Amino acid sequence: MSNNSGSSWISERIRPDQIEKYLNDCGVDFIPDDAIGGMLCDAKIVKSADDKARVREIVSKAMAIQTLSPEETAVLLNVKDAELIGEMEAAAGAIKKKVYDNRIVTFAPLYLSTVCVNNCRYCGMRADNSSLTRGVLTLDELRAEIEVLAGQIGHKRLVVVYGEHPKSGIDYMLSTVETIYKTEVPIRNRGHKASIRRVNVNAAPMTIEELSLLNKAGLGTYQVFQETYHKKTYADLHPLNTLKGNYNWRLYCMHRALEAGIDDVGIGALFGLYDWKFEVMGLLHHAIELEKRFGIGPHTVSFPRLQPAENTPFVNENQSKYLVSDADFKKAITVLRLSIPYAGMILTARENAELRKALVPLGITQTDSSSNVGLGAYNKMRGAEIQESTRQQFILGDTKSLDSTVREFAKMGYITSFCTAGYRCGRTGECIMDLLRTGAEGKFCKLNAVITFREWLNDFASEETKAVGESVIAKEIEELKTAVPKVYDTFLDYYNRTVNGERDLYF
Ligand code: SAM
Ligand code: SF4
Repeated sequence: MSNNSGSSWISERIRPDQIEKYLNDCGVDFIPDDAIGGMLCDAKIVKSADDKARVREIVSKAMAIQTLSPEETAVLLNVKDAELIGEMEAAAGAIKKKVYDNRIVTFAPLYLSTVCVNNCRYCGMRADNSSLTRGVLTLDELRAEIEVLAGQIGHKRLVVVYGEHPKSGIDYMLSTVETIYKTEVPIRNRGHKASIRRVNVNAAPMTIEELSLLNKAGLGTYQVFQETYHKKTYADLHPLNTLKGNYNWRLYCMHRALEAGIDDVGIGALFGLYDWKFEVMGLLHHAIELEKRFGIGPHTVSFPRLQPAENTPFVNENQSKYLVSDADFKKAITVLRLSIPYAGMILTARENAELRKALVPLGITQTDSSSNVGLGAYNKMRGAEIQESTRQQFILGDTKSLDSTVREFAKMGYITSFCTAGYRCGRTGECIMDLLRTGAEGKFCKLNAVITFREWLNDFASEETKAVGESVIAKEIEELKTAVPKVYDTFLDYYNRTVNGERDLYF
């Protein structure tokens, strides 16, 4: 077996009882493949997509921050009229503003292991790929990564990524998450120290018991992407004799997470494996199922798009029939923003800088920056914008620095929020669902966004970025005067204390 994976470890991973209990009375999951396929080309739905009044009615429902039904979403996916598409895009931006204001959150991906027992055909980390240099970071190597990420670049949030392998199983995950939270590093050229304040995890599906341990370790969001919701395609791309070959083990991992007490979960699909419209419908069905069963939808939705990867013919030789064009990708994001209006939407550095800039106004809430997906790459490269294909899962489209990203966002009128207060003071789960649907979350977060942005500008920004950032801050402070009169004085106190060197103040 590749990468020294233990076969007994593999055979004990999947717990059928932790799948079966979630199936419906007929033993069936919540993704109705045939019904979705039928709905997308149903004559009545296709006709409704030309009916301006009907489309506008659906858009208004989304504007009221109500989750759309599969049928309504299928109508939007079929809209072809340029004027209506323009209206949908404008509504997507307006919904984002209503729920999340003009904030955008940045994070860095951090790969902790590149060993994996699975053989997903599109992935450079698959077990059979002998061209990839494999490894698992030691805790010292991890601390060296944090020195660069938190001490030099200024990241406060990470998404840590693990291959599925006994060498990077739950014990390793717990010790790495704990190490990250404990590590304080000096900030270059400044007197004080910095640390990572939120660790999100992207890792293979786990048992309820393991997820509960991860929750206790203080994880932020637990992310797992279904890759494709289409069962036949899933089976073609994930060999059945691998752990990942079990579609339902993956499909129900967010159920297990929520049952384990993690109330902040992120779903996603890898666009380019199957029909993009089907994947949008799959994501929506997933959100509806979680809402119905747990009263909490996904906190974030991710839509990575297939990228080239070292020695990976499936992507490098364009073997997928379903690659998604930029125009269709834009439409997928627009419809997702409307269909699951409360959710955060993550656009990653897989996309090139120009496209990212064009897609952000459609309602993106989070993006990564200064990213490097090579193992140990942050410390090795010390912030240089370089990639090494034999050390990483896939190739990134945008490796721009965090400083340039923040500056670009500020020029577009966005404030980059480094706030990590939400999960530290209980604004998660059902509580945050209410705050998001009513737009109240935006107000709390605006206060914290300004304070943390000030902190970041002082500690990490170039003079050019600081100048643009300060003009955004001035505008925000003006708005806060009327938006939150009751706490405005306390806010000003926190803000001034931050200017004078205090750190990590939040509401
Ligand atoms: N091994 C874990 C898993 O599969 O859940 C961790 C996640 S994997 C390291 C992160 C994500 O990268 C995958 O879920 C998949 O969506 C995405 N990915 C894999 N290969 C890719 C490729 N060639 N291009 C873009 N994204 C890719
Ligand atoms: Fe392993 Fe994840 Fe890559 Fe599949 S996508 S081969 S599970 S790292």
